[in-house]
Amino acid sequence: MTARVLIVDDIPTNVRLLEARLSAEYYAVVTASSGPQALAICESQDIDIVLLDVMMPDMDGFEVCQRLKSNPRTQHIPVLMVTALDQTSDRVRGLEVGADDFLTKPVDDVQLLARVKSLVRLKSLTDELRARAMTGQQIAIEDAIRAMDTINTAGGSVLIIDTDARHAERIKSYITPEHDVDILLTPADAVFQVTGKQYELALVSMALNEFDPLRVCSQMRTLEHTRNLPIILMAEEADKPKVVRALDLGVNDFISRPVERHELAARVRTQIRRHRYAMELRQSVNNTMALAVTDDMTGLYNRRYFDRHLGVMLGKAQALKRDMALMILDIDHFKAVNDGHGHDIGDAVIREFAARLKRNIRGIDLACRFGGEEFVVLMPDTDFRQAEAVAERVRQSISDRGFDVGSPRPLSVTVSAGVTLNESLTDTPESLIKRADVALYRAKREGRNRVVFDAA
Ligand code: GH3
Ligand code: MG
Ligand code: MG
Repeated sequence: MTARVLIVDDIPTNVRLLEARLSAEYYAVVTASSGPQALAICESQDIDIVLLDVMMPDMDGFEVCQRLKSNPRTQHIPVLMVTALDQTSDRVRGLEVGADDFLTKPVDDVQLLARVKSLVRLKSLTDELRARAMTGQQIAIEDAIRAMDTINTAGGSVLIIDTDARHAERIKSYITPEHDVDILLTPADAVFQVTGKQYELALVSMALNEFDPLRVCSQMRTLEHTRNLPIILMAEEADKPKVVRALDLGVNDFISRPVERHELAARVRTQIRRHRYAMELRQSVNNTMALAVTDDMTGLYNRRYFDRHLGVMLGKAQALKRDMALMILDIDHFKAVNDGHGHDIGDAVIREFAARLKRNIRGIDLACRFGGEEFVVLMPDTDFRQAEAVAERVRQSISDRGFDVGSPRPLSVTVSAGVTLNESLTDTPESLIKRADVALYRAKREGRNRVVFDAA
């Protein structure tokens, strides 16, 4: 995964050093020698990561970071701070201004590439989600960004995986009571342990006796339930080559042993914040998608979605020579419901109708509100006999029992349906709908409350 990295440092030698290392890994590199220049570049270009020196004359790295994070146009760009000294106070200040990660000078190659890689992954995930949310509804993304600002990082649910009980207890003591921590001493059970609870972070020791820590991590990455669980490895200097492979497997971060408590606290917080942000964003994207494809009143799919889906399903049925049936339903004399009981009762009838419809079609069938009091059901892999059974069942489910919708007495409601089958390669979505509609019209003419097949 390549990316554009902006290196900001007032000392040209430092810039060139970092530039050489990142270019060798095929990153595109842009450079700036001052804070104001960096801010201007971030505003005008697509930057994926900022590598930011802390010590600079005039405007220091903290101020640059703080400005980037408070500007809506640049706040989503991850910032990696480069501090001269391994000073806890710098880390704390960096966190306060919103830095995403830290590196200490002299910059170690493995550390540099690990942190950059991890931030690039984060950036591409958020970019994709942001783009999807944009195409859906602007509101959702704005909500998500607002949510990001308010995300707190306390009370994280953390799992430590370590076969050394004393080491695990010490690590636990570093991050409690801020977080809620469980310890797992037998990595073989990791998969079961993590499926039982909604963890937000796993801290995995590289020293797991006979267990391969990379296998534990890759298992977590392949399972649906833990695919997005952030993982931080606790590694010895000698584990470095393995750490590089682990990062390729999707491990998010690592921390060197002996673990320094402030660094651990900062990394844990960062991962939890990102995880919560990603969850938030994913949720809002899902909501947005749901809004775009479903009908508000009934929760069924909407016409727009159906039109697109019918084209896809018909193409598939024709290519694979599979059966497919299409049914159009229209509530009988619905105008009389509105006229006699009012529009609100009419709405309630539509909702109850949709609920009964949903209960009486099969999992593979797709129901949609076609408009007004008209509905359509697409039935893949369905022949004449099966389609007839579904249609009859739906019709009866409506007429069998009155609709209890707030009127003095339950209303009796009936429905008419027209059904057609995909029969030839010349069928189009339009021709299918047309045939089903003609059949529906016949059902109405022949007295309503009935199912009619198009006589092809
Ligand atoms: P038919 O048996 O021939 O289908 O008769 P009908 O009265 O159902 O048909 P018609 O198309 O004449 O009337 C449909 C009515 O449905 C007209 C429209 O005002 C009403 N309607 C459409 N959408 C809604 C809605 O969302 N809520 C309510 N309450 N009424 C709706
Ligand atoms: Mg109608
Ligand atoms: Mg009607």
